[in-house]
Amino acid sequence: MDTKLKVAVLGTGIMGAAMARNLLRAGHDVAVWNRDAAKTEPLAADGARRATDPANAVEAADVVLTMLYDAAAVEEVIRAAAPGIRAGAAWVQSTTVGVRDVPVLAALAGDVGLDLVEAPVSGTRAPAEAGQLLVLAAAPDALRPRVAPVLDAIGARTIWTGQDAAAGSATRLKLVVNSWVIAASNAAGEVVALAEALDVDPQQFLGVLDGGGLDLPYLRTKMGLITGQGLEPASFAVDTARKDAHLIVDAAAGQGLKLDGAEAFAARLDRVAGQGRDKQDMAAAYYASR
Ligand code: NAP
Repeated sequence: MDTKLKVAVLGTGIMGAAMARNLLRAGHDVAVWNRDAAKTEPLAADGARRATDPANAVEAADVVLTMLYDAAAVEEVIRAAAPGIRAGAAWVQSTTVGVRDVPVLAALAGDVGLDLVEAPVSGTRAPAEAGQLLVLAAAPDALRPRVAPVLDAIGARTIWTGQDAAAGSATRLKLVVNSWVIAASNAAGEVVALAEALDVDPQQFLGVLDGGGLDLPYLRTKMGLITGQGLEPASFAVDTARKDAHLIVDAAAGQGLKLDGAEAFAARLDRVAGQGRDKQDMAAAYYASR
């Protein structure tokens, strides 16, 4: 590694823990903080410093990385971190947020003295653990080299979408990608439910698709989780997917666009979350049909 950085990872859930671990593997000096402190414990064994609070985590950090549930959590945690922030540190904001949240977070960055890099990621638990995420990022050219060692540690590749992190170009691309992910996952659930109801073997259905243009590896993965009941631990939890589904519906509505499918998928995810399946993989949307 060329540059050893001090990195603070705020949020060590499914994705944040994997990202912190890859930063440690790349030789960076990593401080971790999570609301439920128990989740940072395994990272200490990998060499992370467990911070007592967000301000303690970001002390002397060159780069602050946020991987929290939503924009409200990001705002709350960055405000709590503010007393410890070194002015001019870079902020890699990887939490999936809404189009309307981006300018609010950009203003917050200005208030607390952070240089914002909008950096949502594509890829789930396994690519995160392998350091193979696709990072969708927006930041001025001058700022990019300062965060490149962090983005290289967490991802296989970075797609730069723009110079202005406040303009939300990376978030817009992320929401478009997630609209496809959520549609495909819900379609997998519905096709299994329909096959079962019509007494069709799901494997026979896959046999029809075999090798053709509609034979998606993603469909097979999600069908495997449903039929094998491998819904826990989640790669992408129902509760997180429903948050993103609503961000997609909001983004479309903001443009005067009506996405009937996306609205229905958001409603399905709300319904299964209400069945107590909020922590299961989003493939559990299958149960919305039952
Ligand atoms: P997760 O495992 O549920 O982690 C969520 C994190 O947010 C946890 O650290 C949680 O803390 C924290 N949090 C929630 N509310 C908070 C609050 N009010 N204050 C402080 N911390 C709070 O979810 P994840 O799958 O890692 O997802 C994290 C982000 O990445 C989300 O924005 C998600 O949309 C995005 N994303 C996920 C995937 C995926 O496949 N999983 C892929 C790409 C992007 P506690 O542990 O204390 O609850």
